[in-house]
Amino acid sequence: MAELRFSALKEVFKREPVVTVPPSKDISKYFGSHVFNLHKMEHYLSQEAFRVVKKAITDGKSLTRIEAQQVAIGLKAWAIENGATHFTHWFHPLTDGTAEKHDGFLEMGDNGHMVENFSGDVLVQSEPDASSFPSGGIRNTFEARGYTAWDVSSPVFIVGTTLCIPTIFVSYTGEALDYKAPLLKALSELDKAAVEVCQYFDKDVNKVFATLGLEQEYFLVDEALYYARPDLSLAERTLMGHQSSKDQQLSDHYFGSIPERVMCFIRDFECEAYKLGIPVKTRHNEVAPNQFECAPIHEEVNLAVDHNQLLMDVMRRIARKHKFRVLFHEKPFAGINGSGKHNNWSLSTNTGVNLLSPGKNPKSNLQFLTFLVNVIKAVNDSNEIIRASVMNESNSYRLGGHEAPPAIISVFLGTYLTNMLEDIVSRVTDKKMTPAEKTELKLGIGKIPEILLDNTDRNRTSPFAFTGNRFEFRAVGSSANCGAAMIALNAAVANQLKNFKKEVENIIKKGRNKDEAIFQVIKKYIIESRKVLFEGDNYSKEWHAEAEKRGLCNLKGVPESIKCYLNPNGKEVLVGSGIFSEKELESRCEVEYEKFTKKVQIEARVLGDLAINHIIPTAIRYMSTLLDNVKGLKEVFGDGEYEKMALIHKEMITTISDHISQIEKGVNQMVEERKKANVIEDSYKKSVTYEKKVKPYLQEIRYHIDKLELIVDDEIWPLPKYRELLFTR
Ligand code: ADP
Ligand code: MG
Repeated sequence: MAELRFSALKEVFKREPVVTVPPSKDISKYFGSHVFNLHKMEHYLSQEAFRVVKKAITDGKSLTRIEAQQVAIGLKAWAIENGATHFTHWFHPLTDGTAEKHDGFLEMGDNGHMVENFSGDVLVQSEPDASSFPSGGIRNTFEARGYTAWDVSSPVFIVGTTLCIPTIFVSYTGEALDYKAPLLKALSELDKAAVEVCQYFDKDVNKVFATLGLEQEYFLVDEALYYARPDLSLAERTLMGHQSSKDQQLSDHYFGSIPERVMCFIRDFECEAYKLGIPVKTRHNEVAPNQFECAPIHEEVNLAVDHNQLLMDVMRRIARKHKFRVLFHEKPFAGINGSGKHNNWSLSTNTGVNLLSPGKNPKSNLQFLTFLVNVIKAVNDSNEIIRASVMNESNSYRLGGHEAPPAIISVFLGTYLTNMLEDIVSRVTDKKMTPAEKTELKLGIGKIPEILLDNTDRNRTSPFAFTGNRFEFRAVGSSANCGAAMIALNAAVANQLKNFKKEVENIIKKGRNKDEAIFQVIKKYIIESRKVLFEGDNYSKEWHAEAEKRGLCNLKGVPESIKCYLNPNGKEVLVGSGIFSEKELESRCEVEYEKFTKKVQIEARVLGDLAINHIIPTAIRYMSTLLDNVKGLKEVFGDGEYEKMALIHKEMITTISDHISQIEKGVNQMVEERKKANVIEDSYKKSVTYEKKVKPYLQEIRYHIDKLELIVDDEIWPLPKYRELLFTR
């Protein structure tokens, strides 16, 4: 059995970097070459069609069939010129991946000749059926049809020989079955609400869009080693493995020079990303060995999420060429850092202003403070749904672990802004302010340093940190489709801004002027949001106690956390605004419970198999060797001397035998618990049972396996060890 491990290691030692040559040294020459962007549209579409698409993009509208027909003609010409033979509607089902079903352009023409065809109808809408995707009970098989419809705001692109059309995915009866449809609604709500608030400060603002820059962390493992670890290939995380003597203690991997073979992979996938118009910019070694990060320049949220999903896909594909496997799992290795996907998020206006960046004068700074405080209030009030949006099985191993934010969502502002907000609280009173008081207040906020970036003492432990001109939401998992987190956050902020506007208007009605009304509401929000503001060390034990006192949500269970979507606040924010129907929201929870159950089930099965078929036989083999040895000692040395010599062997034999029986017992009990859980009908109860009754065995069984790994002869250990997975490349 150990042969696979050793032949895998031999393969890795023979690897050479795979060098590929980019189309040009000049990235700008081929950036977006595979994307049907505005520039290409202008070239390939009629003037009329171009105008229509451009308008649809800005207005967030869809095209009529006739309009789509015009677009399809130009699009087809471009696609075929660039080697496409097929097209697909590309969408984000409620799995962690994307989906595509390819159809050829080829059709039978009228006189029996084959022709290439691509109509406006298939551009805007398709019926891929796709009945096997999770729907949380929305679709019964008799009405299993699902429809996809073109999202004009995300450009069409070509991968290989396939033209990919980004689409939303809805059921026959109109319910959303994906992340994109509700995300677009949340962003549109946010746009409307934010524009209204901007009107207090600048009448020229007619569009506000959220921006997102995603830092993607990942691990790389050599392909041969990956295949020698069934847990990695089936569950994307190691379910066993003793810690390597050296891993990240010395922080010598972090920002270190990128290994040559890895560099070739990175350059290669970056090149593919550029062709697809994904603006990847930053790359570096992360803290854990064989862990890396890449980050693009931020884009509008919907596009950024599409690009991130696409990027993960590209990385997986290109990794194979380099004989690597990319692990996007949040915690592939126990005991060292996991991977996250920091969501750098802000709000931008059509006038080019970043609303979370301090301005040059008191007026723009009041606007900045307004948006800053509203975001804080949104995170305070919608704490539980924002938290629900990032909680899932794989991320539950990361949150609260090494270097990862805890599962308590608090906001970090930095000393400067914290003091500034408290200053506002103390200065603003309910009484009408004197002109002198007003001037002083405005002078105060006028002094916010323009480049706060240099002033925020960055708190790396915060799950939601203000970093000078944006918030960085760090609790999102590396494997996640950020759609979920972005729906919750943007919907919460949209709802909050609507409430803000109402409150300000009420005060204005009572005869106060606009600025004073704004200050009063801001003051009220700061006071009401104090519980979510935390400047200290989020990793500390004290914070957990303190957070509990403050009443911040710190549910340990994943299904329990997900259920919070259905709290009154969740319903107000997500259903009240029309982003979800009640049925859709409930079905989303169902999908998440099921996903949780299935993932634990898979891990339990894989661990059970490995324990019984790989580990126990290996341990028994080693035990037999020791037993033979003891017998041999007895034969050669006879009773007296032998006793002393065999002592250590006997101890080892007993230890091994104990671990074996603990593993066996654990696996049997785990199987029994699974059987009991499997008959539970209610998906919530089932997932809770899986979490409480089955999941603990993963840790328990693993403990004994990891102990055995330390004792059993390395020559016969079947699975690549942590030191090999983390340090061989
Ligand atoms: P760090 O690791 O220091 O947080 P990185 O350079 O790794 O920084 O990533 C920062 C990310 O933040 C980038 O993706 C960047 O584009 C993004 N970002 C910068 N400004 C904004 C903004 N206004 N809105 C959204 N994202 C932003
Ligand atoms: Mg960052």
